Amino acid sequence: MRPLSARTAGFTDSVIRRMTRIAQRHGAINLSQGFPDFDPPRALLDALARADTLPHQYSVTWGAQNFREALAAKQSRRMGFAIDPDAEVVVTCGSTEAMMAAMMTVANPGDKVIVFSPFYENYGADAILSGAEPIYVPLRPPHYDFDPAVLEDAFRQGPAALILCNPSNPSGKVFTRGELEIIAALARRYDAYVITDEVYEHIVYAPHQHVYMASLPGMRERTLSCSSLSKTYSITGWRLGYIIAPPEIIDTAKKVHDFLTVGAAAPLQEAAVTGLRFEEAYYESLLAVYTQKRELFLRGLDDIGIIHNEPQGAYYVMIDISEYGCEDDLRFCELLTERVGVAAVPGSSFFREPENRYIRFHFAKREETLRAALERLADMRTRMGTIDN
Ligand code: GLN
Repeated sequence: MRPLSARTAGFTDSVIRRMTRIAQRHGAINLSQGFPDFDPPRALLDALARADTLPHQYSVTWGAQNFREALAAKQSRRMGFAIDPDAEVVVTCGSTEAMMAAMMTVANPGDKVIVFSPFYENYGADAILSGAEPIYVPLRPPHYDFDPAVLEDAFRQGPAALILCNPSNPSGKVFTRGELEIIAALARRYDAYVITDEVYEHIVYAPHQHVYMASLPGMRERTLSCSSLSKTYSITGWRLGYIIAPPEIIDTAKKVHDFLTVGAAAPLQEAAVTGLRFEEAYYESLLAVYTQKRELFLRGLDDIGIIHNEPQGAYYVMIDISEYGCEDDLRFCELLTERVGVAAVPGSSFFREPENRYIRFHFAKREETLRAALERLADMRTRMGTIDN
């Protein structure tokens, strides 16, 4: 038989999503793939239930008019500049498609793109699928800061774009304005685009604050702001995302998106308009809920004596497992699922560097789920027993 395409040989299936399947097989509490186990807001479910009032044929390929208008109004308020719903928005199937379409919009095969490491695993595959070559710049644990000189060296290689996940998955880092200004200055100096993934924009813990890259001086014209409704409205299965960028960029992104997927689900776009029109109080209560979950889970880990970082945003926490002396963190996560009944993602699926000291939990779960997980983790040292390398 002819070999299958060479471009798929450079990466495996997603370890994040594989861990969900392993968790299901062992009936474990799934703190691996980050998604909520609680319902979306009632108003969204009610909107979805009125199926006979929703459209059931294709929406306009770059997004239903209603949806784009509601989204542009909400994001204009947050991002601090007026967004044209017709010329500056493409609605995609999740931020996953938004990122892929953004890459294909700015990068030619053979071009380089800068990716901070650790990084959300899709970016590596996105780069390979679009023919671009990643240059990795370390975000150094435990604070996940970067060395501006190393970043500048990466820019000297003439990348088409830098990918910025802010708030960052898996580290929970929220880039400060100062750090964003360093990145922005380099992007302008070396004429590169910035592709953001800002799906956790509403989950930023005090006193940290989210600053949109596109809101910095001189950055709007070179930033493709990608995000989604998944985390903000607890609807990861609706697959609604978007790119916001200036008209010239969006014209090209529309073409890419049109041929990739034609469009996001029309009835779901229409139902989600209800969420996009929520008052500010909704976002405040979302943050309050996550602040509470974070507190419960992190202090629970402290009580058990599990070493972890303090995420500034998003809903992930990195656990230090060096005390187990395990050389293979994927195997550690499989054993954890089996022996302790809690699923995590091995840190090595996020790091470019040969790192196997960390695993990632997420805490986007009901309090009772988090308490049950903590109860199991309380015996983690005994239950894990010895691990042969
Ligand atoms: N962002 C989620 C995570 O890191 C997963 C998203 C997805 O699987 N599409 O776990």
